[in-house]
Amino acid sequence: KFSTSGSSPLLDSTEGNGFKGHSMLAPFTAGWHSTDLEPLIIERSEGSYVYDSKGNKYLDTLAGLWCTALGGSEPRLVKAATDQLNKLPFYHSFWNSTAKPPLDLAEELISMFTAKEMGKVLFTNSGSEANDSQVKLVWYYNNALGRPNKKKIIAQSQAYHGSTLISASLSGLPAMHLKFDLPAPFVLHTDCPHYWRFGLPGEAEEEFATRLADNLENLILKEGPETVAAFIAEPVIGAGGVIPPPKTYFEKIQAVLQKYDVLFIADEVITGFGRLGTMFGSDLYNIKPDLVSLAKALSSAYVPIGATLVSPEISDVVHSQSNKIGFFAHGFTYSGHPVSCAVALEALKIYRERNIPAHVKQISPRFQEGIKAFAGSSIIGETRGVGLLLATEFANNKSPNDPFPVEWGVAQIFGAECKKRGMLVKVVGDEIAMSPPLIMSQREVDGLVSIYGEALKATEERVAELRSK
Ligand code: PMP
Repeated sequence: KFSTSGSSPLLDSTEGNGFKGHSMLAPFTAGWHSTDLEPLIIERSEGSYVYDSKGNKYLDTLAGLWCTALGGSEPRLVKAATDQLNKLPFYHSFWNSTAKPPLDLAEELISMFTAKEMGKVLFTNSGSEANDSQVKLVWYYNNALGRPNKKKIIAQSQAYHGSTLISASLSGLPAMHLKFDLPAPFVLHTDCPHYWRFGLPGEAEEEFATRLADNLENLILKEGPETVAAFIAEPVIGAGGVIPPPKTYFEKIQAVLQKYDVLFIADEVITGFGRLGTMFGSDLYNIKPDLVSLAKALSSAYVPIGATLVSPEISDVVHSQSNKIGFFAHGFTYSGHPVSCAVALEALKIYRERNIPAHVKQISPRFQEGIKAFAGSSIIGETRGVGLLLATEFANNKSPNDPFPVEWGVAQIFGAECKKRGMLVKVVGDEIAMSPPLIMSQREVDGLVSIYGEALKATEERVAELRSK
């Protein structure tokens, strides 16, 4: 039985306790999992901790789903939501109407994103919708410019961009394509920039980056540059395994994109708002995107909201051409929802006032170095990460080509050992990932590192037993 959600029938069974399944078709959850196992029901949150329905307290090292940047009990966000709910719970943003919060939030986002000048903001409800909207924007733009064939989008293998039809197509994860007849034909995938896994023997990190940029160039040439519209990437691949780019990667990739007039869409859904120790991932890697996707920490996940930032070149074309080729007929009922925008505005205010990126920069060395100190373990293949984003991949003989037997569930054992000690980590395949709230204190980071060490020791002992059988 394969699990994407961190539990295993080998480890965890509620057989005999009367659990009869539930009525929710649970996202990213194996069928056996939601029928055989009682779900973890989280009832409340406080700072970086969550409490389950049985009263257990856990350090939530994934910040929900990489999103509750300000933790689970920020009163200013609650107040922003209730004030707005009392004043104007809803008005739409169609046909040149809107409310004040979306206008203010758009202005604020444009002023915050400084890696490249942005012109306009389109609001969505999620990261998936943001990425779908990016593709429509790019197509509309190229149609307006009289380039109807320039439509293909290149994404990276192993990236995660969402689960609607287009964003799932952009994602480079086979499980999201198989059985769904995806990816859509206009989406192409290029190399995953994971040096540990895909670097050739003797190949330096920079040489690996050069080879990937060459492969991208060859792909564009093979398809015909006149057919390739955009490239999309996360500054650091998140849900696909926390994969920071190899040195010089984005510099070389961007040179290729510029050469063939291919737009860059930066998916900053995880990396936005301080996670890497800079306000945006684009700041850290010197990315100059044409379009930027945001969600998650945009509202610290207190309410659903996503956004696409659009360069002035693109927004000018969309505006000036919309009288000629038909208006930009795209948007959602809840694009610019006043409550979501009011909460996001307050979240941005807090990121600025508390200088959250600087806080992350200050505490993340303790987090990264603390966890990487265990990387010599005989059951760890690689620990990688940047800022408050990290993954450990378990492997036999420290080799990317020598995974443990699936049925051993090594990462699952580690996850269960963490849970026993009051800490939740993401478990998928052979990996565990962490993306804790950005408000973590140094003491909480130290506690996290120490639980990681204890859980690792227990996992090593279990693997030693399995090896000896
Ligand atoms: N892009 C990235 C980089 C993400 O991590 C995610 C969500 N994990 C998405 C897009 C999709 O966002 P949502 O789940 O809000 O649709």
